Amino acid sequence: MDMTTDLTTHTSPNAASRVEIPGFRGELIEPGDAGYDAARAVYNGAIDRYPRLVARCVDAADVMAAVRAARAADLTIAVRGGGHNAGGLGVWDDALVVDLTPMRSVHVDPAERLVRVDGGAVWGDVDHATHPFGLAVPSGFISSTGVGGLTLGGGIGYLSRQFGLTIDSLLAVDVVLSDGTLVTADADRRPDLFWAVRGGGGNFGVVTSFTFGAHPVRTVAAGPMFFDAARGAEVLRAWDELLDSASESLNGWFGFLSVPAVDDFPADLRGRTVAAIMWCHNGPLAEARQLLAPLRDLDPLLDGVGEVPWPALQSIFDPLFPAGLQWYWRTDFVDELTDEAIAVHLEHGTELPSPQSTMHLYPVSGAAGRVPAGATAYAHRQAKYAQVIVGVDPDPAKLASVASWARDYHDALHPHSVGGGYVNMMMDDEGLDRVRASYRDNFARLVEVKRRYDPDNTFHINQNIPPDAIS
Ligand SMILES: Cc1cc2nc3c(=O)[nH]c(=O)nc-3n(C[C@H](O)[C@H](O)[C@H](O)COP(=O)(O)OP(=O)(O)OC[C@H]3O[C@@H](n4cnc5c(N)ncnc54)[C@H](O)[C@@H]3O)c2cc1C
Repeated sequence: MDMTTDLTTHTSPNAASRVEIPGFRGELIEPGDAGYDAARAVYNGAIDRYPRLVARCVDAADVMAAVRAARAADLTIAVRGGGHNAGGLGVWDDALVVDLTPMRSVHVDPAERLVRVDGGAVWGDVDHATHPFGLAVPSGFISSTGVGGLTLGGGIGYLSRQFGLTIDSLLAVDVVLSDGTLVTADADRRPDLFWAVRGGGGNFGVVTSFTFGAHPVRTVAAGPMFFDAARGAEVLRAWDELLDSASESLNGWFGFLSVPAVDDFPADLRGRTVAAIMWCHNGPLAEARQLLAPLRDLDPLLDGVGEVPWPALQSIFDPLFPAGLQWYWRTDFVDELTDEAIAVHLEHGTELPSPQSTMHLYPVSGAAGRVPAGATAYAHRQAKYAQVIVGVDPDPAKLASVASWARDYHDALHPHSVGGGYVNMMMDDEGLDRVRASYRDNFARLVEVKRRYDPDNTFHINQNIPPDAIS
């Protein structure tokens, strides 16, 4: 692509007015620089934004300098962790991007089971560092997602039922505030800020370091079970019922998906739309087999549950969802799988518009659901499931059709949800009412904390909690 044409046809990046960041050690990338297109690209290939400057920070001092420089130049700040956000909130037109991607180191203290993670690490970095010690931090379902964004929004994953959301294992954060100073927040120091970052997203500052408590996880019993999609109602009910009573060491998300066309699956299943459950039991395979008996009795097309080292489970989906695909997301929280909701799932979930488009239901039960709703900013503890519908395709020309499928499916299901959505899976244009509904009774307290720590709304490229949202 011709860079000159690109710049003149898009918004207003202005290479002439260079932004200086005194004392900055990392790389600074501006329009016209060789690495500019790579630096502005995020995981969702449908996002095409042109920042004024990408400041690749190597340490907290760089982050402090970048925030100060952006404020002095009156520039919008976007903060980039792993770059996975649904709405591409890690990059913004005309903004100074505080890019944390060089800050990926992880330090493990196995004796204390403490893990300290730099703000730009991805979960694969954490799994790599903790696995030799037989430890893991609860994360998500894919290893390329950023620790920063996933944690700040809550963090739903395979270990949620046993050890809670990612934020329930978070012990401390170092945060660069809007005035460029760095503070530590934990249960004793700035507890208001510590409460708010556990679910409130990047609204309060740039987190340069996360300290987590880790848990014993080494090899798990995990893998997919596939059923004929037409049996989706029966499978959904059996899965829901099993998780209501099963040990919390067992987790599994439900999805309608196309069986990937890869050698790992039998040839007759490849490309077929199925009702799938991706299981993970943090325990022996024999125990998993017993726990899964009610679903095994339903005679799945494939039972692929086996022993898997934790990092391998976390990265199973990485090659199926490489960076750069076109994504369109819709999310809700769900309390109950009613007959009406299941009928909608059957109607839309069995009609996937592309091989990578899918619907997932992620359990937020067990340990994750027991935490009181007001204990952290993440408010929907009562919701049994976070539901996400994603239209995905490599071809930009197909984005409109996969998005329209996701929108129609979501519109039909939304009346059966509890309002609000998982902020990490919301797009960039969903509006304040959705954000308010996502934080429910915690919203007013979040606004108070926002006023205290970011009264000018310096950090607003996120699911924003405006300081003036409540008069
Ligand atoms: C393929 C895929 C799978 C996913 N699976 C899961 C899953 O299993 N469980 C789950 O809970 N979520 C999942 N998500 C959603 C994910 O949590 C969000 O996309 C999250 O925003 C990604 O964080 P990031 O750091 O990679 O993104 P970015 O786009 O870099 O950042 C997202 C937001 O967080 C802010 N941010 C990031 N890092 C920091 C920081 N250090 N300090 C302050 N603000 C920061 C950014 O400013 C932005 O507003 C998935 C997303 C994708 C694309």
